[in-house]
Amino acid sequence: MSVSDHVDFNQFIEGVKKRNPGQLEFVQAVQEVAEDIFDYIGDKVEYHEYQILRRIAEPDRVVSFRVCWEDDNGNIRVQRGWRVQNNNAIGPYKGGIRFHPSVTESVLKFLAFEQTFKNSLTGLPMGGGKGGSNFNPKGKSDHDVMRFCQSFMTELYRHVGADVDVPAGDIGVGGREIGYMFGQYKRITNQFTGVLTGKGLEYGGSLIRTEATGYGTVYFLQDMLERVGDSIDGKNCVVSGSGNVATYAAEKINQLGGKVLTLSDSGGFIHDPAGIDAEKLAWVKELKEVRRGRIEEYAKEFKGAEFHEGERPWVVPCDLALPCATQNELSGDEARALVKNGCLGVAEGANMPTDLDGINAFKEARILYAPSKAANAGGVAISGLEMSQNSARVSWREQELQDHLVEIMRGIHDRCVEYGGTAGDEHIDYVRGANIAGFVKVADAMLAYGVV
Ligand code: NDP
Repeated sequence: MSVSDHVDFNQFIEGVKKRNPGQLEFVQAVQEVAEDIFDYIGDKVEYHEYQILRRIAEPDRVVSFRVCWEDDNGNIRVQRGWRVQNNNAIGPYKGGIRFHPSVTESVLKFLAFEQTFKNSLTGLPMGGGKGGSNFNPKGKSDHDVMRFCQSFMTELYRHVGADVDVPAGDIGVGGREIGYMFGQYKRITNQFTGVLTGKGLEYGGSLIRTEATGYGTVYFLQDMLERVGDSIDGKNCVVSGSGNVATYAAEKINQLGGKVLTLSDSGGFIHDPAGIDAEKLAWVKELKEVRRGRIEEYAKEFKGAEFHEGERPWVVPCDLALPCATQNELSGDEARALVKNGCLGVAEGANMPTDLDGINAFKEARILYAPSKAANAGGVAISGLEMSQNSARVSWREQELQDHLVEIMRGIHDRCVEYGGTAGDEHIDYVRGANIAGFVKVADAMLAYGVV
């Protein structure tokens, strides 16, 4: 069989669109990866013959289920839950759970697909999965959230397990939700195993898991800057989001001498020209994690700060930008505005925050641009180490884990450089590097298994 017998890129994407009608986010994610992979496997017959990319772009399974629960007022509520198990060629499925009204099967399929490449990039033995529900935890009491989580796990427990599929947190799922779900899993199965990561330290959690995604994103940015003889020190940084990833990314930027100018939530963004220092950041964490308030309150609390309702922060001139809220929060026009205003580096803390037009704008401008599957892999990497600690029934020390995180992020950076460079050109295409480096390991494992 020759390579020319196989479908080309356009035919492949048309097929993906046809098989996944209306699943725009999933098609977008596959398209972004497939462009680079088609280029790479052009002369590699085996990958075509065994339909490797087509198989990675078809989840192993998608489980969809009803989640019924009773709210504080005695009303019966019905939500939908999912677990997408995309690929377990190199390890048990692994990926977060998202609770947000915008969650659909398409969103979870895109996230599980991306997770497959991200987990491979970490160098740890983890396959790709993702799950969640259209449940909105915002404004709900702790008891509402507990009853929802228990009902969600009462179905999910059949599909997960320490050697099968190990979920973690994501948007709307933090320590509180993981605690409720782990408690229910333990109650139903009578087993204390590492079935979830992001657990509390008292019951098998790992130090620095909470910080790992945000810190790791900044380490990756630092690695890219170091390669071109620069650093974060003294740079103005624009950050979106105000949740787990955004606040710890902001914390690490401050520690490395940068200045954080913005944070946001779904209501708009705040701009503080004086910088969001450690003290102000502690206030934001308390606002979001304890009081569960809105970011607009920041502008009332701190003099000189402004709130921009319904807007995104990419209009603020900066040296570095870190989208850390959600998917498709940075458009082509916004990417061009960032470049025009002198932005020299972008590291994605959120998953797929930049749309395809925006990615192309960054690529054309040849700025330092780290895609999410590389830049935000620190969280799942420490989750992988939480699994190791659970299996061995040990807890590693903080410094040991910090060292691992720095080393893993540098390893991902170097793999991107290996596959994303072009002879005679100093510039690195980190998108291509991450896509190909993530693909190769999964693809070769799949080849070893034959047709399964
Ligand atoms: P959180 O729930 O802690 O925070 C999410 C933040 O994003 C909130 O500020 C939220 O604002 C904002 N947000 C959510 N949806 C929208 C929207 N449609 N428009 C504008 N802002 C929005 O989640 P995380 O910080 O954990 O996750 C953020 C991103 O990072 C996601 O893309 C996630 O997949 C990714 N990620 C997270 C990892 C982790 O370890 N937590 C690991 C790897 C990736 P509001 O409160 O108004 O909704």
